[in-house]
Amino acid sequence: MQHMHFHFLETAREIQDEIIALRRHLHQNPELSKKEYETSKYIQSYLTNLGLDAKIIHGTGVVALIEGEKPGPTVGLRADIDALPILEVNDLPFCSQNPNVMHACGHDCHTAAVLGAAKILLKHRRHFQGNIKLIFEPDEELSGGAKHMIEAGVMENPKVDAMFGAHVNPLLPVGSVGILPGKAYASSNPFEITVTGKSSHGAKPHLGIDAVMLAAQILNAIQVYVSRQVDPLDSALITVGTIHGGTQRNILAQEVKMTGIIRTLDPALRKRTVETLPEIVSGIARALGGEASINIITSASGIVNDPAMTELVGNSVRKLLGESSLIHMDKPSMGTEDFGAFLEHAPGSFYQMGIRNPGKGAVHPLHSDQFMVDEDALPLLSALHAQVAFDYLAEASVKKK
Ligand SMILES: [Zn+2]
Ligand SMILES: [Zn+2]
Repeated sequence: MQHMHFHFLETAREIQDEIIALRRHLHQNPELSKKEYETSKYIQSYLTNLGLDAKIIHGTGVVALIEGEKPGPTVGLRADIDALPILEVNDLPFCSQNPNVMHACGHDCHTAAVLGAAKILLKHRRHFQGNIKLIFEPDEELSGGAKHMIEAGVMENPKVDAMFGAHVNPLLPVGSVGILPGKAYASSNPFEITVTGKSSHGAKPHLGIDAVMLAAQILNAIQVYVSRQVDPLDSALITVGTIHGGTQRNILAQEVKMTGIIRTLDPALRKRTVETLPEIVSGIARALGGEASINIITSASGIVNDPAMTELVGNSVRKLLGESSLIHMDKPSMGTEDFGAFLEHAPGSFYQMGIRNPGKGAVHPLHSDQFMVDEDALPLLSALHAQVAFDYLAEASVKKK
């Protein structure tokens, strides 16, 4: 048992060509969010060939269970599977063959790595007590597939006791792994504000209610909320990205519509922000004689990594790749990741796999049409997933005794 980690890395090296081939197939055949039909069939058939019972869930999601030799807790490994509406400009033998669709967020790598981890774990099945649930999530990029998979029961039968997942990260050198306990990604709430005034001649503003002026006051007030009602050491961000209203320069606008996003790191601050903004928006408009309302949508949950689970990942990285491969990330991201929805149902941690290598052109940011990865990271990520799952089950069974 002592040297189990050597086995995981060795096994990953033995099958690394296969893991890379899986990733290249997915990269060549990317599919957009909610339309991952061929992708989920491909995942399902690979798992079926491994002897697993892989089920389609929530349209294009896939779930499968690896049962250890002895009963015990269940640990989840998650990969997201969708691609983006981007035309790939890279010149690779396995470039996207689907015009205007590209795996520019590395979800092809995430999927291949969890499939590789499944194969590694099956080879070592006799060494673990408990189950590993493999979860392939569709629609991460658009509306968030996690909550629908959860509603469809993915976290039950057997109940998932801990969840792990990873994202490739082009800012971290290949071979390294980043961890961050606590708040790691922001939650997202898109919104639309409708401001209603009353039209009149632009030279007789007192006879109407100017929706453009109301919108300006509302824009100001919501930024005052951020700067004056939120602890400066917490993070709330409100961006208004579009504003449309009015018909002609000498007519007071009857209506203005604005759309934007709210991002917060702290779940309690998210709740307070979502509760406070409608009061500000309607209160300002009413005070000036008009009306305004805000429709706030609940999108991705933020990621709050469980400290103990994050420490477990750190120890798995040390065992597998050595202390020098472990990077303690210094700050969270105001970006979003749908993995957070799973962490509302089980503790866990989301780690960052370094893929940066200037020598191979792997330097471009996520969602870039030039996004590229150093594939040397793939067997490492498969081995790490296997190690993390194994270490969790081993720790959980010791605790039980
Ligand atoms: Zn993305
Ligand atoms: Zn992503």
